Parts: sequence; structure tokens; C-alpha cells
Amino acid sequence: MPIAFIDLAAQQARIRSKLDSAIARVLDEGAYIMGAQVKELEDKLADFCGAKHCLTCANGTDALQLALMALKVGPNDAVFVPSFTFAATAEVVPYVNATPVFVDCLPDTFNMDPASLKRAIVFAREKGLRPACVIPVDLFGLPADYDSIIEIARENGMTTIGDSAQGFGGQYKGRMVGSIADITTTSFFPAKPLGCYGDGGALFTDDESLADHIESLRVHGKGQHKYDNERIGMNSRLDTLQAAILIEKLAIYPEEIVSRQKVAEIYNAGLSADFTVPETPDGLKSVWAQYTLTMASEADRASLQARARDAGVPTAIYYPLPLHQQKAYRAFPADPEGLPVSEDIATRVVSLPMHAYLDEQTQEKIIAAVTR
Ligand SMILES: *Cc1c(COP(=O)(O)O)cnc(C)c1O
Repeated sequence: MPIAFIDLAAQQARIRSKLDSAIARVLDEGAYIMGAQVKELEDKLADFCGAKHCLTCANGTDALQLALMALKVGPNDAVFVPSFTFAATAEVVPYVNATPVFVDCLPDTFNMDPASLKRAIVFAREKGLRPACVIPVDLFGLPADYDSIIEIARENGMTTIGDSAQGFGGQYKGRMVGSIADITTTSFFPAKPLGCYGDGGALFTDDESLADHIESLRVHGKGQHKYDNERIGMNSRLDTLQAAILIEKLAIYPEEIVSRQKVAEIYNAGLSADFTVPETPDGLKSVWAQYTLTMASEADRASLQARARDAGVPTAIYYPLPLHQQKAYRAFPADPEGLPVSEDIATRVVSLPMHAYLDEQTQEKIIAAVTR
């Protein structure tokens, strides 16, 4: 059996009969859009993370766009985003005619650097932009430094959107991700820690008027009913089938988070003598969307990947090029001191197989393969 980078089949085998009956129930009931399972899932997700409101939508990118629309971010607004992230975090900013401003990350956690955020805010003001919003990302499953970032946001009259596409289920100093930022977004793309069998996403907030606004925006800006249009919205709903699947997956998610933590600890124990293993600050809990080593050089990374490939161990690079160096994003502003950490770590990081069903024997094989 080849080693999987993310083993979705093992999870499916565990709950297959529950999934089959949940899917059959949707087919029997025939409410494919906004069926009862959608609200049931939203209530369960809100309970799980301690948020007052949860609204599901079509995917994690739409969730970010809906958040910016609900916060009325628009022309002349600056939205501060990390450069070392998946493109969607920055991509949604031009969608609402605002300007993404790139911020550097910290070398140990890979998450947004508050000092770089401060410099970028000053720079944006100098360029005549209004600092409107910051989007810290819970990269690789580890919550961002929310206390520092939210404090900077408040001092500057900005709102905070937590992009937790990779981090839903994570904890920050006793609080669950989803109950910390003004709005938190997540993705249910199949490979995310909590994924469905297609595209899906959700937003979390404690603010009732924001929740009402998002609920309208996701159905064409509806008012009392869908042929009553109060604003320009989108068509961005989670399918009932995906909601039914997610209800079954959410039921086992707490156990899976514990398993992921065990997998990470075994990697840490087996690899920390030879490599820089991921850092988890005190009081934070990652859901380990990725387990990412930082190598000493790009050449060291290439040789680790070659050793792994020879032993049948898949590896991946998240992310090979930071966004501010990508063709589509090069023209946007960034921290005036540059983004040296993002540029450097993009050449040195490498991620190993990580999922809740990785057994110890396979992990030993992976550790032996990557350790010379
Ligand atoms: C996956 C991801 C998204 C987008 O989610 P989709 O559901 O694929 O649209 C946004 N931000 C980050 C950090 C992601 O990893």
C-alpha cells in the first residue's frame, strides 16, 4: 500500500455506513438546496467553536469575500494579508475593489508578524489608503497571534477576519478559533482538516447584524424572501448533501484532532534532533493541517524530498512562492521593509504526510526515510 499524504479513504471506511444513510436521507427528502441538514450543521458548528452564529456557504474563498462584503470593505480600503498563504486570502480583496497589503510572517510559527503589520499600516496610510481590515491566517492549522493582531487592529480602527480554512478546531489561549475574530471563515475543501466531498465553507461571528447581512448576501442579497433584493449579493450556499456529510464528519472530528496531535508528537520526537520541527507557542493548539519542517537550505530540502521519494514517502511544499512575488500580486503594496522571512522560508519548508489515520509503523517508516 503506497503511503498517502492525506488518507481520506481510511476516514471514509470508518463512517461509510453513516455517510450512506445520511446521503440516502437527502435523496429521499429531495431538499437539495437549504435542506434541514444545512441549519442543523450550522448549529452544530457554532456550538463546537463557541460562536453565536454560523453561516455556511459554497467554499472558503466565498466565505472570505462574503466577510469583506458584510464589513462593507471597498474602494480606497487597505486589507492586510500575509504573503505566505494560499492565494485565496489575498484574492478576495480586489474582488471588493480594495487593496491587499502584504505582511511578513514569523519564522517559527509561519503566522502573521505583528511588527510587520504595524509597518504595513503606516505605509498604507502614506499611500492614501484607509486601513480597513486585517486577515490573519491560521497557517497549517496553528492559530495566528490573535491577541497582538486584534489589538493592533483596534488601535487602527480596523476589523479582523480570521482565515481559518486550515485551522478550524484549533485553540488559542483557551478559546476556540471561530469565537475570536470579528468574523472567522473556514473551508470544507476535502483536504482541509474538516473537509466534505466537494466544495464548502462557513463564516462565524458573534455579531447578529453581521450574521443577518451575510445570510442575505449568500442568497443574492435577499430581503424577506429571495425575490426581494435589498443589496447586491452572491449565490453561495452549501449543498444539503455536503451538509449531511459534514454532520457525520464533525461527529468524529474531536477524536481526529486528538489523533492528529499524537501524530505530530511522534514526528516531533523522531525528527527534532535532525530538523527544525514546527513550533507551537504555549496555550495554542494546532489541528495540524500540515506538518512542516524547516530545512537548513533549499539544497537540503531537495535532498530530503529525493530520499523520501525513493522510499515511497510523499512530501509537498506549501508554499513554493509567497504571494507578493507572484505575477498576479506583484503590483500590490507590502511592508516597506520587505518580506524577507516569507521569501526565505518558501525556499526551505517541506511538509510530510499528515492525517488522523497515520499509524505508528508508517510514521516510523517516514521518519527513517527522511532522516539520513
Ligand atoms: C483552502 C484555503 C482557502 C480557500 O478555501 P476554498 O474552499 O478552497 O475556497 C482560503 N484560505 C486558506 C488559507 C486556505 O488554505
